[in-house]
Amino acid sequence: MSEKNIPYKIYLNEDELPKVWHNIRADMKVKPAPLLNPGTREPMTAEELSHVFCDELVKQELDNTTHFIPIPDEIYKFYKMYRPSPLVRAYFLEDVLGTPAKIYYKFEGNNTSGSHKLNSAIAQAYYAKKQGLCGITTETGAGQWGTALSMACAYFKLDCKVFMVKVSYEQKPFRREVMRTYGASVTPSPSMETEIGRKILAEHPDTTGSLGCAISEAVEVAVKSEGYRYVLGSVLNQVLLHQSVVGLETKAALDKYSIKPDIIIGCAGGGSNLGGLIAPFMGEKLRGEADYRIIAVEPASCPSFTRGRYVYDFCDTGKATPLAKMYTLGSNFIPAPNHAGGLRYHGMSPILSQLYHDGYMEAVAVEQTSVFKAAEMFAKCEGILPAPESSHAIKVAVDEALKCKETGEEKTIVFGLTGTGYFDLVAYEKFHNGEMTDYIPTDEELAVGFAEIPEQ
Ligand SMILES: *Cc1c(COP(=O)(O)O)cnc(C)c1O
Repeated sequence: MSEKNIPYKIYLNEDELPKVWHNIRADMKVKPAPLLNPGTREPMTAEELSHVFCDELVKQELDNTTHFIPIPDEIYKFYKMYRPSPLVRAYFLEDVLGTPAKIYYKFEGNNTSGSHKLNSAIAQAYYAKKQGLCGITTETGAGQWGTALSMACAYFKLDCKVFMVKVSYEQKPFRREVMRTYGASVTPSPSMETEIGRKILAEHPDTTGSLGCAISEAVEVAVKSEGYRYVLGSVLNQVLLHQSVVGLETKAALDKYSIKPDIIIGCAGGGSNLGGLIAPFMGEKLRGEADYRIIAVEPASCPSFTRGRYVYDFCDTGKATPLAKMYTLGSNFIPAPNHAGGLRYHGMSPILSQLYHDGYMEAVAVEQTSVFKAAEMFAKCEGILPAPESSHAIKVAVDEALKCKETGEEKTIVFGLTGTGYFDLVAYEKFHNGEMTDYIPTDEELAVGFAEIPEQ
């Protein structure tokens, strides 16, 4: 295929939108470790999980063998509102870098929530509705997940209670108002509405909150309220499953032009966009049909993969959730206050953790000022104002493209551009004012988090 025939944007037709999700676990010889009941240390049963999650989502969470799971019609219809998303050839970025590498990015910011999170939000809201529930509870950090979920709940007429990390609630009023526009109630966390919130506030009255703490509050309310369940926007197997729509579209678009990527890059907070983007590619790799370099990018200030431990840990600060085996910094780990670049979760998807542990993917940690430099360069040449989270992937895609410039290799690089940064302008402001600093936690600081990890 001649270069000239590859358009700036590779769009799929509506009828090429994937009709199934790809369950990467079916391809894994070593399956991700099961969630454990923290009391008995036995694998969580479907019955136990059903107190927290919707029944159909419990099934998906526990299903390690079904390769492809059909996307229900109602979800498919909603997907059509904003999907397929474009796969863009970064010709302008390539020019600026002067690299022989061919760079592509899958852009997930083309919906009002501004990120890939809507792909799972709509699925989770649908199954809650189908089960006849009245509403769902969740946590949100920067607000992308809460926004996506409030859109999904409005569509299916479900009540949506969002616990928003307090610092974001105060610093990001705009996203809060988008959520309220879609009818969600938004509570700053920790709050006085839950037992765990009151406990955390009694111990740390000045805390600005954390994702782990907001999760504890949302779970508590779900478990105690009739007709409510809890939903989570990342980390879980079911979320990676829904996000596989991103990878399937990417693969379909590349296949149209017989393009085979050498390197696939994604930012990693809890691992959902990366897990979704790589699903079909990792499937081929696991089945021995093709090989790809797959790189997870995380912040140096919250380095779960690169400096965390691969152990069973709680998913939340309040230690109310089941135990997940994952790369973790300890459930009480909170990144330094100067950290503005997102991806602040202490743990990582058990699926990606197992794949990383088994050597199927790499991870790198990058510092936030270098991430914002890459973001700015990208905004100038490609026209899209990227989310700070997504910019971690940009940074490493640029680094890899520059390596190709040195070696003269024409590698094909694909990365996930997970969202836009319009609501992250306080972070951009810090960067522009020269007030952004990098902070890499010391081993002693990380030891504090590790000390809280339950005995294995
Ligand atoms: C939430 C979010 C992420 C990180 O979450 P993952 O589950 O690791 O994908 C990345 N980018 C954007 C824009 C997000 O909103």
